Amino acid sequence: MILTDYRRTYPPFQSGQRHSRDCVRGGPSGARQAFTKTRSLPLVTVDAEIALRRRRFGELADSDGAVIGVSPAALNEKLDGLRVFYGGRGVWYNAARTKTLAEPGVTVGLLHTGRHYPDDLLGDGVIYHYPVTATPGKDAAEVEATKNAGRLGVPVFVVVQRGQLRDVHLGLIEDFDDADQSFLVGFTSADDAAALKTPQGWGSVSEEPFVAFDKKPRKRIELLTRERDPRFAFKVKKRSGSACAVCKLRVRGLIDAAHVIPVKDRGSNHPANGLPLCPTHHRAFDSGLFWIDPDSFEVEPSAGETAESLRITVRDIAWLPAHPDQEAIRWHSENVGGG
Ligand SMILES: [Zn+2]
Repeated sequence: MILTDYRRTYPPFQSGQRHSRDCVRGGPSGARQAFTKTRSLPLVTVDAEIALRRRRFGELADSDGAVIGVSPAALNEKLDGLRVFYGGRGVWYNAARTKTLAEPGVTVGLLHTGRHYPDDLLGDGVIYHYPVTATPGKDAAEVEATKNAGRLGVPVFVVVQRGQLRDVHLGLIEDFDDADQSFLVGFTSADDAAALKTPQGWGSVSEEPFVAFDKKPRKRIELLTRERDPRFAFKVKKRSGSACAVCKLRVRGLIDAAHVIPVKDRGSNHPANGLPLCPTHHRAFDSGLFWIDPDSFEVEPSAGETAESLRITVRDIAWLPAHPDQEAIRWHSENVGGG
């Protein structure tokens, strides 16, 4: 049998690694030790941790599967033992309890204050920015612990601050972007069976074939939310970088993801229909004050404008890690620009 052959071909160390998802104790050298320890010590396992967090969230949530407007005190009491809000930082990973799963731990809670990036809360998730505090060592550990939650498929409690009250969501870390220093966190429910599995392709955007247009026209209200969809913004920045494509401005929280084919014209939310732009150049692009030549990728100012008048500092967008799909650029140049 293939399975027998596999075990015979590889040394025991390799088969031990298959269990290390449940009890990684830091690097390959610790894997064997971890494997033997599972048999003798009652360690917290990944599956048990996932089940525990889902159960606790289920106990907290109302009949609609949401937790809206609870006091911090009530929240702490209900989640007692998980220490979701311990220590006054935005990310909590409770090292004492979770470092047996992965070093330095697995994030338990994320606090979204909405103070700095109010637009980043989606209907079904949140863009969570890496912590930047006076203790970079702690920040790095928190980022690592949050990546661990994503890699292991362990849900985290996303606490949203609304005045004196808190909303709580159960979130799965879907992806991260080290360049933009942000996580994409999708909300899940206590009994989301599909999400129990470790996310496929975690941490690496597996891009679907390009689709320029949405199949169905959208309602007005949907257009508005879609234009500012943070999930789209996350994917565009991960793909094409988080600096303005035409002036190279790179300020956290100031870069938009522009739809090349606009949402109102049924432009899709595929990341290759997106271009990172600062708000001023986003507006200029949307109103046709400049466009991109679909063959040379050169930036073309409209009649009466110059690169200088528009404060465009690059000749073309070939410097981007990835440019939008040519079909989208062509559509924009012919229908919005003057190409
Ligand atoms: Zn710009």
